[in-house]
Amino acid sequence: EFYNKILELKGNIRVFCRCRPLNTEEIAEGTSMAIDFEAARDGELTVKSNGAPKKTFKFDAVFGPQSNQVDVFDDTAPFASSVLDGYNVCIFAYGQTGTGKTFTMEGTNEARGVNFRTLEELFHIIEERRGQFQYEISVSVLEVYNEQIRDLLVSGTQPGAAKRLEIRHVGEGIHHVPGLAEAHVNNMNEAWEVLQTGSNARAVGSTNANEHSSRSHCIHCVMVKGENLLNGECTRSKLWLVDLAGSERVAKTEVQGERLKETQNINRSLSALGDVISALATKSPHIPFRNSKLTHLLQDSLGGDSKTLMFVQISPNENDLSETLCSLNFASRVR
Ligand code: ADP
Ligand code: MG
Repeated sequence: EFYNKILELKGNIRVFCRCRPLNTEEIAEGTSMAIDFEAARDGELTVKSNGAPKKTFKFDAVFGPQSNQVDVFDDTAPFASSVLDGYNVCIFAYGQTGTGKTFTMEGTNEARGVNFRTLEELFHIIEERRGQFQYEISVSVLEVYNEQIRDLLVSGTQPGAAKRLEIRHVGEGIHHVPGLAEAHVNNMNEAWEVLQTGSNARAVGSTNANEHSSRSHCIHCVMVKGENLLNGECTRSKLWLVDLAGSERVAKTEVQGERLKETQNINRSLSALGDVISALATKSPHIPFRNSKLTHLLQDSLGGDSKTLMFVQISPNENDLSETLCSLNFASRVR
């Protein structure tokens, strides 16, 4: 019973920290690493300032610059595959722009990320369970930008376009976005096409695709309908894969007009997410889901017996130290 209590207290929220390697420019400039990964195996990392240890953080896992996509997915797969057992799951990538959020979630053609590997793993397990379980998988891809939801599977919808999607409460703790496209996928080839359609649509209509993607949250929702063929029991669950907007602080004096509004919306939704997760972690009676589109959208998949995994992405560059400390402190708060 004592152990049950501990498990209960620990809850269903996990935080993994991932640090990107120094890039070629940083190496050419002779940039030194501001992070020490010696205790990474124990889930610890130490932030250094001028070579001297400054602060140590502990997470459920730490992935240093040497870790690859396979290493990361080995530890992520159990969260993702729980969706086939009927659990709602949220996986987030949080951090400053340029620290590898998109690398972790979307990856590249040579080094596919969590989104692709998750769907691959789901189809693999579905194949293994054939004859005992039957599953239907559909995928939605959307973006939250300036507190507006955009469907990335419907062509011609541009950032700020007329068609606005809203979140509706459709029954006991269930939320739905009417009109949001859901692509039914039967295998990995079909899933891959959907992932590509979504990622191509992301760039459409924005003058600077990179800037736009660093200021919006890119969200994949994998919906699962499962049936146990032996007893007829049915499950419905969702897995959310979220590449969050960049968490870097922007000086108010540097931005105005549209940029200022953007910045305020990003700050609002990231701090709302932090508030919700830490309220869940401390079992607070009031969980402030309604404070942002993002947390409202994910409401039925956060808390209860849902599982949450947060990747906090960091840079090893000493020049990024203050943002790195902000991200690590944010992540310590939600854990
Ligand atoms: P973000 O989405 O947080 O802005 P990106 O995912 O675009 O950051 O990463 C910035 C750059 O660093 C990209 O060129 C990416 O390929 C590279 N990168 C990030 N993380 C890693 C990593 N773990 N290993 C190798 N390259 C990485
Ligand atoms: Mg990105």
